[in-house]
Amino acid sequence: MQIINPATEEIITSIEEDTIDSIHQKYELLKNGQLHWSKIALSERIAAISRFYDLLDAEKEELALTLTNEMGKPIQQSLNEINGARGRIKYFIDHSEKYLAEEWITIDGATKEKIVYEPLGVVANISAWNYPYLVGVNVFIPALIGGNAVLYKPSEYTSLTGLHIQRLLHKAGIPENCFQAVIGKGNVGAALLQLPLKGYYFTGSYKTGKSIAETVAGKLVPCQLELGGKDPLYVMDDVEDINKIADDVLEGVVYNSGQSCCAVERVYVHEKIYDAFIAAVTAACKKLKVGNPLEKGMDMGPLSRKEQPQFLLAQIKDAISKGATCVSGGNIINTKGYFLEPTILTNVNHSMDLMMEESFGPVIGIQKVKDDAEAIALMLDTAYGLTASVYSKSKERAESVMQEMNTGTVYWNCCDRVSATLPWSGRKNSGLGSTLSFQGIRTFVQPKAYHLRG
Ligand code: NAD
Repeated sequence: MQIINPATEEIITSIEEDTIDSIHQKYELLKNGQLHWSKIALSERIAAISRFYDLLDAEKEELALTLTNEMGKPIQQSLNEINGARGRIKYFIDHSEKYLAEEWITIDGATKEKIVYEPLGVVANISAWNYPYLVGVNVFIPALIGGNAVLYKPSEYTSLTGLHIQRLLHKAGIPENCFQAVIGKGNVGAALLQLPLKGYYFTGSYKTGKSIAETVAGKLVPCQLELGGKDPLYVMDDVEDINKIADDVLEGVVYNSGQSCCAVERVYVHEKIYDAFIAAVTAACKKLKVGNPLEKGMDMGPLSRKEQPQFLLAQIKDAISKGATCVSGGNIINTKGYFLEPTILTNVNHSMDLMMEESFGPVIGIQKVKDDAEAIALMLDTAYGLTASVYSKSKERAESVMQEMNTGTVYWNCCDRVSATLPWSGRKNSGLGSTLSFQGIRTFVQPKAYHLRG
């Protein structure tokens, strides 16, 4: 399989893909290893993860370079991602003992009762490319701490990063028979669905996630899905610093070239401040630096996948054909690499794909609304349910909108953020189940109820 640099279109290297045979061998290896791993003291499993945490720091420059070269994010954003992933790992290191310890529920009377948390067995982690460290550690770190073995399928667009992760976990002391990466495209992911695994943990698109859930349904094992979004953001008329908010919103749109599951994908602005907001956000957009992601100070690199600029251009053209106005960007950049100008469209509405389908790129539609009720109705008009954001001076007014949202996460005066201490979950087409927080520790274990007499 060729690894292509999306900024230059050059071949970085070629690597071996896994075959059905090699996948079976890896599964057999893990099946035996998991039995041993689950018997090791929890503190020892956590100690190995702590060494991985240190190794990520020690090698961060090289890891960031690999990540930028294979998926195109600006080098500082690659470093930020590795640091962010370490923050999440630290949460798991510090909190897993508490949430995995046996819990005494009834200690008086004839029948004593307790809960013990047991691992599931060998589980699959089928992962995405946009934040390979962040979305990976959400799954394989608590899964390993919980005593499971993991078959880890990095995206074909971040396979070199996946191999770094495997190398560093093994170096940290996670046994080879507890963690194995499988390399390849969708067919390799699909091969994992044929194995008798004890859980499927997927991060990726709605289309793939739904087909995985359907395929493994008959196994009656956990199948957890972290999928896409069409996340709305509403700016109320009482906000004070429009320029600051415009910068904030724009960052939520273009960070990682807009390839974030919780990127801002639709913006609604109260009519009283609409013109001022459009002027501020357009001015900020025109200042963004797009180019070589290895150069310091770049706001945006290329998109990661070759077909994505054309996909986004089709959304832009569809919107313009239905009456939208392009006030910034709108074009593929005519150079080597998969670059698109950061793009803002106004006069948009919900008949346009741009406002209904996940864009996953640096493109945003901004719609004028007359009041909070109209904003709420439009925010709710979606098949997705990952995050929703409100900017307002008034906590009460913002809360009245947040309470109405059918999303796993809501934000007041912020957007496009994930916290290790809060559950990360999507509703509707954005997914099923939670990672992160104490819920994301217990996701990878099963409770056993003890009834004890005597
Ligand atoms: P994708 O669905 O194309 O691929 C995800 C993974 O599934 C890859 O490893 C791929 O090789 C594998 N795969 C593809 N077909 C398969 C099949 N039939 N069976 C098994 N595995 C298969 O998604 P992507 O392009 O890698 O990721 C982008 C999507 O992920 C976006 O929609 C984004 O919003 C979403 N995402 C969601 C979250 C979240 O936390 N909710 C986080 C990151 C990304």
